[in-house]
Amino acid sequence: MRLYDAHNHLQAPCFDGLHNELLEDCEGLQRMVVNGCLESDWPRVAALADGRPRVLPSFGYHPWFIHLRTPDWRRNLEGFLDQYPSAVGEIGIDRWKTDISYDDQEEVFLTQLAMATERNLPVSIHCLKAWGRLLELLQENGVPKRGFLLHSYGGSPEMVSAFARLGAYYSFSGYFLREAKGRHREAFREVPTDRLLIETDAPDMQLPSQFNEHLLEGPEGRAVNHPANIRVVYRELAKFLEEPEERLTKRVEENFLSLFDGL
Ligand SMILES: [Zn+2]
Repeated sequence: MRLYDAHNHLQAPCFDGLHNELLEDCEGLQRMVVNGCLESDWPRVAALADGRPRVLPSFGYHPWFIHLRTPDWRRNLEGFLDQYPSAVGEIGIDRWKTDISYDDQEEVFLTQLAMATERNLPVSIHCLKAWGRLLELLQENGVPKRGFLLHSYGGSPEMVSAFARLGAYYSFSGYFLREAKGRHREAFREVPTDRLLIETDAPDMQLPSQFNEHLLEGPEGRAVNHPANIRVVYRELAKFLEEPEERLTKRVEENFLSLFDGL
């Protein structure tokens, strides 16, 4: 099995000191896209990619952390994109997180989207409670020619085709295996065959406990999502889509290599 994790956060502090061990546990995993979320993450992501060809680095400002940005953040980000073959992300907009200025979120998002478009880099987009606005922003501002990733897509099934026309890829996360996430799962039946990807979002987006095959505790005893759970997400998504796992694995590989071509 040749597996690809389209979106995770291996640089998260709860994984400190465990990286090689965690990667060894990820049987069959060919590449994982490791997303930095703020400036202090970026050197950590770069260090993880160093000497680990399975790690594909991605640099960006996540909307939850933009209040921490320094006056130099743009130049800083461009420096990382210049230095490393990398993607842009995690970036996005979030109307669920009301304590962060929404206007600032859009400004920071659009600045980074423009950087990705100009360089034709794949970009990993987070969106909560702002799907209509996200569609407008992408239509008005343009997207990278190679396409973009709607990570852990949580928009409606009806909106899938509008994003797909712009070049969207959609990644399914283990969180959607929860009983209550039926509508999110249903949306993945609408995803075009050549646009489907799979992710763990580790250490976030816990799988329901009956599916979690790699129990792992963070420093405060809190359960965290192990990146090796990617194998489970493939298996369970194949069941849900009623598609042979081998065929699903093959097309996710093709889709990953197409979006992240050359990185
Ligand atoms: Zn994420």
